[in-house]
Amino acid sequence: MNITGEMLIGQIAVRGTEGSLRAVNPATNETIAPDFGAGSTAAVEQACKLAQQAFDTYRETTPEQRAQFLEEIATGILNLGPQLIERASQESGLPAARLEGERGRTVGQLRLFAKVIRDGHYLSATLDSALPERTPPRSDLRLRKIAIGPVAVFGASNFPLAFSVAGGDTAAALAAGCPVVVKTHNAHPGTSELVGRVIQQAVAACRLPAGVFSLIIGSGNEVGQALVSHPAIKAVGFTGSRQGGLALMRAAAQRREPIPVYAEMSSINPMFLLPNALAARATQIGSAFADSLTMGVGQFCTNPGLVIGLAGEHLAQFQEAASNALKAKAAGTMLTPGIHSAYLAGVERMQAVSGVDAVGRGMAASAPCAAQAALFSTDAVTFLASEQLEDEIFGPSSLIVACKDEDEMRAVAEHLAGQLTATLQLDAADHALAKTLLPTLERKAGRILVNGFPTGVEVSYAMVHGGPFPATSDSRSTSVGASAIDRFVRPVCYQDLPDALLPAALQDGNPLGLTRLVDGALHTA
Ligand code: NAP
Repeated sequence: MNITGEMLIGQIAVRGTEGSLRAVNPATNETIAPDFGAGSTAAVEQACKLAQQAFDTYRETTPEQRAQFLEEIATGILNLGPQLIERASQESGLPAARLEGERGRTVGQLRLFAKVIRDGHYLSATLDSALPERTPPRSDLRLRKIAIGPVAVFGASNFPLAFSVAGGDTAAALAAGCPVVVKTHNAHPGTSELVGRVIQQAVAACRLPAGVFSLIIGSGNEVGQALVSHPAIKAVGFTGSRQGGLALMRAAAQRREPIPVYAEMSSINPMFLLPNALAARATQIGSAFADSLTMGVGQFCTNPGLVIGLAGEHLAQFQEAASNALKAKAAGTMLTPGIHSAYLAGVERMQAVSGVDAVGRGMAASAPCAAQAALFSTDAVTFLASEQLEDEIFGPSSLIVACKDEDEMRAVAEHLAGQLTATLQLDAADHALAKTLLPTLERKAGRILVNGFPTGVEVSYAMVHGGPFPATSDSRSTSVGASAIDRFVRPVCYQDLPDALLPAALQDGNPLGLTRLVDGALHTA
């Protein structure tokens, strides 16, 4: 497929006229052809208008039609073959094997959402029968969820496939029946165009309205701001920096009609080393932790950036094992020069904090944008006194916090801001302590793990990739897994509508064969 550097507005390819940009290969700092034309607010206007026009038709397509559309996109992505992997690798510095895995995940989540809409649980079809004899009489009440409206999606730099143009936000929104306008991430414009063209072709192949999908390129914040501010847009999906997420939340809140922003921002993913597990396997946990910390050059939102243990010989063993393992970790190429310099600045800031010691480094970096892993340690008193030590350093850096006793460990847990994940390394003899930590961790995190590592997020029905601020802007939701669709639907209740006017999901004969809640009891078709 030819990469032209154009935006995709409905079924048309349009060259942006507001200057041009090129992808940069972070491994060499060289630019990659072709030039991409950056769009204007006029392009945003066009795409959003088309999305609005498409909405009523698209949201009432059958579940089967939308499922086939998602499957068509999945097949199209696979059909791009090595071209997609090569381009994504050049633009992101990520190795082919990682990108092949990410492609599998992207295709897998499109197919999962096809299944989700075919089985229809997400509609929450609910029927309360009329009670005409009751005083006062009750009407016939029926609830289903409908698509919220056109959704703006911001592609993420750290997942050029799985959190980008056809990533989790797009898949969930399209599944729900929402047209999508994507703002590409400028770190991977070629990858974005390839995937965007696949979706554009799938829209045509499935005979859907043109405005179901558009892809906009922007240079600077203007295009993203215009997109979030456009009255046709009814929700936003974003993965990126806390600063970027907050800016979009502000823009959304200042609209005449404020809209929800589902922003996934920053998390340091605390890992608690409980004493019996640490006594039994400090060295093993330490070296597995170093693997998790450096996976993908630490550029995962679930990277373990904080380790909490009880001070003593076993924590020292863990630290030594982790430091030794890090010494053998090569400095990997980060996604962009900007992310690389932000990492270097973060490590420097951490080093400068009084009471924090540098206790481990990876292999030195020589190539452009290569990041040397970093491990620091401090005590709980220093940690509790400095908000800065809780800031995410995006990349392979982590901080060990030594606590004098279990109370101090609980105080650290209580002090933490919202997180995507919290991990407990524990043995059976640690259960009593774990029970005292769990209520706090439930309040702080979207996912709690035992004896694993937070990197690696399964795309499944029970997954939660969310959590209280600043992990996300809305702790009631997840951006990964089947429940991610709930962000893009809202409930509507139909009171006393004749059967002929009701949507199929709520009609008497249950023509969609849904499992429905009827007078408080679950009825399977
Ligand atoms: P970013 O700066 O937040 O940008 C992400 C997207 O949001 C881009 O498309 C950007 O468009 C847009 N955007 C940002 N600020 C905006 C604003 N004020 N108004 C409108 N649009 C705005 O993220 P990034 O470029 O991927 O990386 C920067 C830093 O984010 C990293 O160093 C890292 O700290 C963090 N990050 C965290 C995660 C995570 O999962 N926790 C993932 C990726 C990045 P423009 O092109 O218009 O700027």
